[in-house]
Amino acid sequence: MKKRSNLSRLMEYAGSHCYLTYSSWILSALSALIALVPFWYLWKIIKEVLDVMPDFGQAENLKQNGWMAVLFAVLSMLIYIAGLMCSHLSAFRVATNLRLKTLRHIAKLPLGFAEHFGSGKLRKIINESSAATETYLAHQLPDKAGAIATPIGLLILLLVFDWRLGLLSLIPVVLGFLIMMSMTGEKMRQKMTEYQNALDDMSNEAVEYVRGIPVVKTFGQTVFSFKRFKDSIDRYSTWAIAYTKDLRMPMMCYTTAINGVFAILIAAALIISHDGVTNEFLLNLIFYIIITPVISLTLTRIMFMSENGMIVDDAMKRIDSVLNMKPLENSPNPKNPSAPSVELKNVIYSYDGKRNALDNVSLKINAGKTVAFVGPSGSGKTTVANIISRFFDAQSGEVLIGGVNVRNIEKRELMNVVSFVFQNSRLIKASILENVRLGRPNASKEQVMDALKKAQCMDIIEKLPDGVDTVIGTKGVYLSGGEQQRIAIARTILKDSPIIILDEATAFADPDNETRVQAAFSALSKNRTIIMIAHRLSTIANVDCIFVWKDGKIVESGSAAELKAKNGLFRRMWDAYQTSVQWKVSKEVSKS
Ligand code: ADP
Ligand code: MG
Repeated sequence: MKKRSNLSRLMEYAGSHCYLTYSSWILSALSALIALVPFWYLWKIIKEVLDVMPDFGQAENLKQNGWMAVLFAVLSMLIYIAGLMCSHLSAFRVATNLRLKTLRHIAKLPLGFAEHFGSGKLRKIINESSAATETYLAHQLPDKAGAIATPIGLLILLLVFDWRLGLLSLIPVVLGFLIMMSMTGEKMRQKMTEYQNALDDMSNEAVEYVRGIPVVKTFGQTVFSFKRFKDSIDRYSTWAIAYTKDLRMPMMCYTTAINGVFAILIAAALIISHDGVTNEFLLNLIFYIIITPVISLTLTRIMFMSENGMIVDDAMKRIDSVLNMKPLENSPNPKNPSAPSVELKNVIYSYDGKRNALDNVSLKINAGKTVAFVGPSGSGKTTVANIISRFFDAQSGEVLIGGVNVRNIEKRELMNVVSFVFQNSRLIKASILENVRLGRPNASKEQVMDALKKAQCMDIIEKLPDGVDTVIGTKGVYLSGGEQQRIAIARTILKDSPIIILDEATAFADPDNETRVQAAFSALSKNRTIIMIAHRLSTIANVDCIFVWKDGKIVESGSAAELKAKNGLFRRMWDAYQTSVQWKVSKEVSKS
């Protein structure tokens, strides 16, 4: 497939506004041409002065010509502004549509996607990349049209009055252009990449350095002990100096050539006019000397224009990285699960395509049972919970809820059936009441309060300044990880779905919170299927079945008593846990 240009892709987002973009180019080019008209009036003024010399009183049209020059200068500016207005209208439309399309696409992606990308990075892609396309369309392209029109207009002007002088003043321009090409060629692109790398390197090392400041301070070190940081600065400065030296010669030639036009003109004038000067020739000479600085200005403008394309290219690539992610497939004829049972058949899932986070897992949880997943960190417990809630699809194998493959359950239905209380449940910036009500938007305040009570949240509510109406995230309102999770549990209680998965927050150091979470969980009545991912073995004594995970596999399963008798991984975890509890208790006792 042929890669489509960024512009044609962007114009698709502009819709009918694309004509505004095209108009802006025409207006900008027109404005650039009209900006040259005052020079023509200038020529007329000089001509009149020379004609009446030395009796200047006879020059009658000076004022009029002067005003005409001003008029055209203003006209050129007005047309430019009109052009910018068109380009902005279209550019904003493109940026809006681009954002909408990306956001709509994200809404269709699996929920696990946001986790994978990171919300900060995602926000940056959507905001900054669409802003980059806006600058490109609103300013850079119209300016480019103008920058192309100017030299063409200039060329005509230069050749119309006196073609000999015109050609002569083109010599340094062509020379300057050649030097410019030599500065921006393939070798230069390579240099630019090196520059970018050196810069990236330095800023990465700088971040590391800032992170390490506590260490630096504590141990009284200097920046020189951060060898990598210092090396990256050295590399950068070596590079920058070499680069500057490289460009010294061509840049000097370029500047001399471009600014030395009038020297050539005067030398040529002396030769051409050695058998007498006509007024006409003098007039043209003066005119050419006045107009040539415009040439160098335009050339310099074109020189700095070349890198613009690279920025928008990069922006489109970033946006594509989001748009190219595949949305979850939806089944054409969805079914509803009949019972809240969960079954996995030979499920394989890998995050990176190399190592399996879930390695051929099969398990069955009957409706209405409470089970626990335990196992070392990184053994795949959170991943399996994600797969069951279809935050992403397994690469192979089947996930069945009530006998129906999750791929055949409608998304909304699946969300009603399965609730997932995350390991680090984030609350949104709204009141506690609204946060809980997200579970069931039409719930009454009494129902919300009831859920909060069942989730053991009353102690949290009591200490907050405005009770349930306190907005989370406002100044002075701080909830610990465990407290946030309890609010999330209240939300789940209110939602009242038949399957509930709790990924217990690891950060619960305080036993009080732990007891409360447990009490909250037992408040979830029977006839529900509950999967607890437990980090504390004390909490799972009464569950129907324990699955012990290791390296993406289930290595043991059964009741607590069975597993203890088995002398396997669970037994070892249990013994270790007992020791740590005893150690803690003896410490508490010795303290009191
Ligand atoms: P647990 O919840 O049991 O601690 P996880 O399910 O979170 O374990 O992780 C299982 C494995 O998958 C681990 O090796 C972990 O490093 C890897 N993993 C988890 N999340 C990601 C992710 N977003 N990207 C890549 N690898 C991941
Ligand atoms: Mg986990």
